[in-house]
This record gives sequence, structure tokens and C-alpha cells, in this order.
Amino acid sequence: MSEPVNTFEAQQQGRPTGPLVRGYEVIIGFETHAQLSTASKIFSRASTAFGAEPNTQASAVDLALPGTLPVMNKGAVERAIKLGLALGSHIAPRSVFARKNYFYPDLPKGYQISQYEIPVVQGGSVSFFLGEEKKTVRLVRAHLEEDAGKSLHEDFVGQSGIDLNRAGTPLLEIVTEPDMRSTAEAVAYARELHKIVTWIGICDGNMQEGSFRCDANVSVRRPGEKLGTRREIKNLNSFKFMQQAIDYEINSQINELEDGRKIEQATVLFDPDTGETRTMRTKEDAADYRYFPDPDLPPLAIEPEWIERVRATMPELPRAMAERYVRDHGMSEYDAAQLTQGPALARYFDDAVKAGATPKLASNWITGEMARRLNAQEIGIEAAPVAAQQLAQLVKRIADGTLPNNAARQVFDALWTGEGSDVDAIIEAKDLKPMSDTGALDKILDEVIAKNQKNVDEYRAGKEKALNGLVGQVMKASGGKANPAQVTELLKAKLA
Ligand code: ADP
Ligand code: MG
Repeated sequence: MSEPVNTFEAQQQGRPTGPLVRGYEVIIGFETHAQLSTASKIFSRASTAFGAEPNTQASAVDLALPGTLPVMNKGAVERAIKLGLALGSHIAPRSVFARKNYFYPDLPKGYQISQYEIPVVQGGSVSFFLGEEKKTVRLVRAHLEEDAGKSLHEDFVGQSGIDLNRAGTPLLEIVTEPDMRSTAEAVAYARELHKIVTWIGICDGNMQEGSFRCDANVSVRRPGEKLGTRREIKNLNSFKFMQQAIDYEINSQINELEDGRKIEQATVLFDPDTGETRTMRTKEDAADYRYFPDPDLPPLAIEPEWIERVRATMPELPRAMAERYVRDHGMSEYDAAQLTQGPALARYFDDAVKAGATPKLASNWITGEMARRLNAQEIGIEAAPVAAQQLAQLVKRIADGTLPNNAARQVFDALWTGEGSDVDAIIEAKDLKPMSDTGALDKILDEVIAKNQKNVDEYRAGKEKALNGLVGQVMKASGGKANPAQVTELLKAKLA
């Protein structure tokens, strides 16, 4: 990238201001490490499986034994191409691996192989809803790199050990512009990115195991001022911690400024036990790393044909699906975004529509009643006890006027609890058919008219509203089974 740093100020011109916190505007940019789901490492054939005995999955390359050479894993490149395609990025036809030099016990080579000046994925964006508002966060880049090993501090023997199983695990580091303006927006961005990388299958998304970890760069400024100095919170591996850590960081930066101190650029760690961040190191500059192109690896060449072959293997993306829903079903962008929260949810909706459900009704039931029950039971749509075909059957009975709302809810409940499995059979068993047989209805109408002379007189005297009371009485007497529109018509006819 030609100008990765100094253009931020210019790029931020004209971007909307976020909600102020104690009079300050919050600016957030993310660097996310997504561990790529390849079976072997980025430059060696050792396994990437999680949880093995220390150092059983470290090959000579990962151990940095002299004379070994890295060999690029094609699967890792393909996954980078997939991300680029999913996010509308430019996929560089030629990108370059660089050595990032630093000393740390878990890095036996003394440098990390990464990409610096020319990353494989450039630009692109991530869009999502924050409440009902659509947000777009621009990406600077995504580059391929290797992970380092781990230091294990074995307190019980008073020693530290090094586990190099993780060394050489393929990572894609995804870097945003400082486009986010609140903690909520930052968390929503991270959730969306997590959704995308798992949707396209390039990362297992397991945050506890560290497969998806975010560094949040946070600064604050008075509205209209230049961008403030940022601090970077490292390795956030849960959405809850992310929210707590960023909130804490915002407030502590504001406290410092209010006390008349300056923010010093630093890298901080969040401690979930105290809910605080603490400084790990004052931030080093790129120059400290002495980046230079890795002479052991040729530039990474990606032909257009390769991109097309990868494109052909891509699933339909949430963004494309949402656009399809808006276009084909006249759905709102917001509803479409709700339905494309995950591949299983979208598939469920598609299946219901295929089985004959009206899209709008199916969508209402899935994002309403269904979502409420799934949340309450903390289960995903895969585990929903109501199949898409059953929901479609229910929706059809609503659309054709057989089921009024509260009856539909009773049928849904019976499906959910397993009390019944066939919608029509449940309607029959529970006697939920609307009362359209005018004989029975007629009798109720006459009774209600006889018992509510006052309403009748008022209605006849021109007070339209008095009819509502009568309709209500009929609905009650019918046990909710009469069709209110039909009752209104019949009453009007009788009282005319
Ligand atoms: P470095 O090369 O030191 O890692 P970058 O310039 O690449 O720094 O930026 C790293 C991340 O920090 C990016 O996600 C960027 O959006 C974000 N960032 C840069 N400046 C600010 C700022 N003033 N406030 C918040 N985030 C920022
Ligand atoms: Mg950077």
C-alpha cells in the first residue's frame, strides 16, 4: 500500500459524527486476526489441529531449524481470495511477503513472515445494521501471515515453557479504516465480520480457542478536532469483553484528557477479572520492525483464472441474499438483514418460501415468534422443533384466512411443543377453524344485539364507534373464532 497511514485525516472528512461520550467523539479501528481453516500450516505440512500436546505439531520449518525453507500453502491463499471476493476488495495479482523482525521467545526465527507493503487483499468494506441504521466500515487491507508460538507459564514449577504448535498457523489480518464511532458499532462490525468468515468457511470462528481475535484501536477527540492519539487493546476474544474493554478504554482516555494529561500511544491488555485495561508496551513504530521482503518466498502471484475458480466455489453471500430478498420479495433491507444473520436461518426462510409460504408472513414469524423462542431456549435455528415446511403450512393457513392471529399462535405453540405435527390436524383437534357457518354465528349476533340495546341505539343514531363494542361482544361469544371483518359486515347488514 502506498500510503497506509497519513491519509486517515483526509479520509475522515465528511464522515458522520458518532454519539458523544461525555462531550467526546469516539474513533475506533479494528485489526482482526482470523485463523484460516487449513489442515496444515501456512509454510509447512505440520497439522494446525487445536489442543495437541505441546510441540507435537511443530515441524523443522516451524522450529526455524537452519536450512529449512517455507513453502506457501495454496489453501491459505484461496481463503484470502474468498475473503476478498466476499468483501468487494481488490485481490492483488502480485503480493509480497515480508519479514517483520522482533525478538520474543515464542518466535524462534526472530522474525514473523507477514505481508507489508503489498498485501493480498486491498480495500473493500463490511456493511451491517446497528439497530435500524445501516453502517459501512471500510477496510484498508487483509494480509496473510503466520502465527507465533505460545509461552506457557507453569507457575507450579516456577518455569516457563514454549509451545510451538501454533507457530506457522495461517492468519489473515483484516484491518479497517478508523471508521467506527461507538462501542456498539465496533461490536456490531466484529459480529458481522465473524459471520462472514464463518459463512464462507475460511475460519472456524471459535473465539475461545483464539481462531478469531480482535485488536481494537481506540481514540477520542472533541468534535471537529484532529484525530486523537490511539491506544490499541490487544486480543479481544469475546464480544462481551470487547464491549467492556472498549467502554473502559474510552472512559479512561477521557479521564486522562480531563485531568490535563496527554494520551500516550500504547498497546494495552484487557483483564476480564478487573474489567480494566493495562499497558503492555508503549507502541513501537513500523520502523522498529525493520520490514523487508522475504528472500525465501517469491511474490505471490494470483492469476484471474484462479480467482474465477475460487469464485465458482463460493456460497451465496449474506449481502447477495439480502439483496435478493429485497428484490424478489419486496422485503425491507432491515428485515432482509435479520434473515441473513446466518446461513442456517436464511436457508430456513428459503425452504419455507419454497414450500409455499408468503415471504412477508414467513419473515415475520421467523424474526418474531420463532426468534423469541430460539433466544429464550438459547438454541440455533438448526435445533428449532418447527420445520420450515411446517411453518409454511401454518403461514398458508394464515394467508387463506383460516387462522386469525391468536389461533395461529396456538397452532405454532402446538408445533413447537410437539403436541402436534400437522397444521390442519391441529386446527381440527383444537377446533380452531373460524366460525364462518352463518347459522351458529347468526344466533350469536341476535343474542348480542338483544343484550346490547344501548350500543344498537347509539349506532343507529350515527355513532359508528358503537359498532366496535358489538363486534367485540360477538368475538368474545364466539371464543375468538369468528372473523372480525365478517362480523362487522353481518352486524351492519342486520342493523341497517
Ligand atoms: P500500525 O501500522 O501502527 O498498526 P495503522 O496505521 O496500520 O497502524 O493502523 C492500525 C489500526 O488503527 C487501523 O485499524 C486504523 O484504522 C486504526 N487507527 C489509526 N488511527 C486511529 C485513531 N486515531 N483512532 C482510532 N483508530 C485508529
Ligand atoms: Mg497496521
